[in-house]
Amino acid sequence: MIDYHMHTPLCHHALGEPAEYLTEACRQGLLEIGFADHYPLGLLGIELKNKVSMDPEELPGYISEIRALGEGQNRVRVKLGAEVDYLPEKEKALARLLDGAPFDFVIGSVHFIGDWDFTHPRHAEKYESADLPQIYRRYFELIWQACSSGLFDIIGHIDVIKKFGHRLPDREMEPFWKETARVLKKNDICFELNTAGRAAPAGEFYPGRPLLELCREEGVPVTLGSDAHAPEQVGRYFDEARALLREVGYRELAVFTKRRRSSIPL
Ligand code: ZN
Ligand code: FE
Ligand code: FE
Ligand code: ZN
Repeated sequence: MIDYHMHTPLCHHALGEPAEYLTEACRQGLLEIGFADHYPLGLLGIELKNKVSMDPEELPGYISEIRALGEGQNRVRVKLGAEVDYLPEKEKALARLLDGAPFDFVIGSVHFIGDWDFTHPRHAEKYESADLPQIYRRYFELIWQACSSGLFDIIGHIDVIKKFGHRLPDREMEPFWKETARVLKKNDICFELNTAGRAAPAGEFYPGRPLLELCREEGVPVTLGSDAHAPEQVGRYFDEARALLREVGYRELAVFTKRRRSSIPL
């Protein structure tokens, strides 16, 4: 198994040293792990009061630390990735920044609708007063734009808008699910089964089963990540995740080297 979504304390909201994440991965007998810490929003000219990404000046240290880990004598392969915010008005700036960057893979995630950081517990009360169908529409439009931006290898936690349990009925979700699977396929882009949602109020993986099934039908490649923000979260719920992936028909997981995709058996 692989864990392609792990953070480090540089993002200001994760605990433990990268070496401890690696130790936990070794203990579980994982084949390969990928660090994907939050890419500096500061490089896109965004400064937040509560920091949720590494600082621009920390990026070189992050890259060298993860590389050094990977060069050690480990049973687990270590890949260097980043989780990058998709912000539609920053596409060009991001393209310049990522061009020639040394990452094995780049996860594109939508955490912002306008300036609302809707995955942050501190800002979750805003769901109460919001027009839910409109928020879902805006969220998925951003996801589709992220898919077709050409910036990313993997779309992160693809239905994370459900994180705090604010849901639309399945029949209203269906058009979003269908279009998402179609757009992923059309752009030949991968998504992740992100197990962190099981521990959130949503109570299920990102994505849930219906979207996972549609992606399988379309033949969209999938990878797997815990979104660990602490060493003990590495590989969390992976037995369940593997069983679910096999049940819906997946037999391989996507892996990346210098942004080229290949696959390993599931
Ligand atoms: Zn995070
Ligand atoms: Fe994220
Ligand atoms: Fe993450
Ligand atoms: Zn995340």
